[in-house]
Amino acid sequence: MPLFKVAIVGAGPAGYFAAQALQNLANDERTFAIDMIERLPTPWGLVRSGVAPDHPKIKTVSKVFEKIASSENFRLFANVEVGVDVTVAQLQEKYDAVIIATGSSLGKTLGIPGEDLRGSLSAAVFVPWYNAHPDFVGVDTPLDADTAVVIGAGNVAMDVARMLALEPSELDPTDTADHAIDALKKSNIRKVYISARRGPEHAAFTSPELRDLPKLEHTNVIMNKADIEAAIVRAGEAPEKEVKSNLDAMLLIAENSKSEHERTMEFLFQHTPKAILGTDRVEGVVYSTPNGDVTIKCGLVITAIGYQAQGIDGVPYENGKVVNNDGRVKDNLYVVGWAKRGPSGVIGTNKSDAASVMELLASDLTTPKNSGDVSEILTNQVVVSQEHWQLINDAEVAAGEAKGKPRVKGVERRELLKHAGL
Ligand code: NAP
Repeated sequence: MPLFKVAIVGAGPAGYFAAQALQNLANDERTFAIDMIERLPTPWGLVRSGVAPDHPKIKTVSKVFEKIASSENFRLFANVEVGVDVTVAQLQEKYDAVIIATGSSLGKTLGIPGEDLRGSLSAAVFVPWYNAHPDFVGVDTPLDADTAVVIGAGNVAMDVARMLALEPSELDPTDTADHAIDALKKSNIRKVYISARRGPEHAAFTSPELRDLPKLEHTNVIMNKADIEAAIVRAGEAPEKEVKSNLDAMLLIAENSKSEHERTMEFLFQHTPKAILGTDRVEGVVYSTPNGDVTIKCGLVITAIGYQAQGIDGVPYENGKVVNNDGRVKDNLYVVGWAKRGPSGVIGTNKSDAASVMELLASDLTTPKNSGDVSEILTNQVVVSQEHWQLINDAEVAAGEAKGKPRVKGVERRELLKHAGL
């Protein structure tokens, strides 16, 4: 039976769902050997370094990833950077198909004055910092001022605002990086603004996330009732289902805004950022609003306004995405997930997306190349295999058990490799 070798670059949700789709496409006439290549010593992508640690349920999808990885003909090559340790062209030569599943890791910028000041960060830096991503351990996150501003009206902005506005001891039973829990416990921030440039009817939050906010036990969540009522009027009699659901959730928040807690998260709508103020570091944000310019004093600004893909040599990019036609890039190169369609949708969205690209890929295959695999190129490389990763995973989970956490993540690369016995 023909065995086609497929390399998947990136061990995040899109990569795993592509692998799963290929496993499902195996039949009496063809089967697939999958080599998943990952830059970090650990897999799971955004499930490990993106999903907010106070939302552990979302991370249970990692069980699905591990089941996919336990299948015959699946190998993990982690701690291997495509574009550095091996080129895309080398992979294309060896494999019947190569799939780019590297997501969108770079934060979009506002392009306004002051964005480079100390204390102005992208969520693309802040989120991996609190999630123990090895490349972001030393990020400078000044939390000494009493007020922070988060710019953007999407779920990432909401995750960031919640992490800043939570009572930090609520993070003790989570897998938040220890360095972040320590810093948040020392933080002086008590007020977090989350600002949207348009009205509530256009916000990109999803309603389950909005409905979770009133459950925060130690944080006041404030929305202005007049803002939401005006948005309900503007949305008209038959708003889209998602818009109605969001506005219902927001009205509930607005009608029950609390004030008894020391910590507050407040939403600002129709606030378009014009400039970030400060000389040596952030001192405030100037917004243009329907009532004229407004300045909010703060010591930290986090922009959560979307992402773009990081380029890899040999892969064409445009507008922050890989240039593609329904997932086909060129020759035997394909793309799935955020690198293909941009940073939208929840983790599960990648499942149907990858399945349709894998059908195209399978329809393009003719006869297997039998040209070897990546292991022949990585002879001098410290590679984290699936078995090594299981050792890391076991060590992290065991360290977590002792502290009542799902895991204590290794932060430094050498620590992770040590867990793996490498
Ligand atoms: P997003 O949902 O696209 O939201 C981006 C936000 O940034 C929008 O509100 C957008 O406003 C705003 N924005 C863009 N450019 C701006 C500018 N120049 N100035 C001010 N605001 C600007 O992106 P995201 O929050 O990064 O999330 C990415 C995807 O991951 C989404 O599909 C999200 O639902 C998903 N996600 C899900 C979860 C979860 O399920 N719990 C958690 C995190 C992320 P405009 O609409 O005005 O452009």
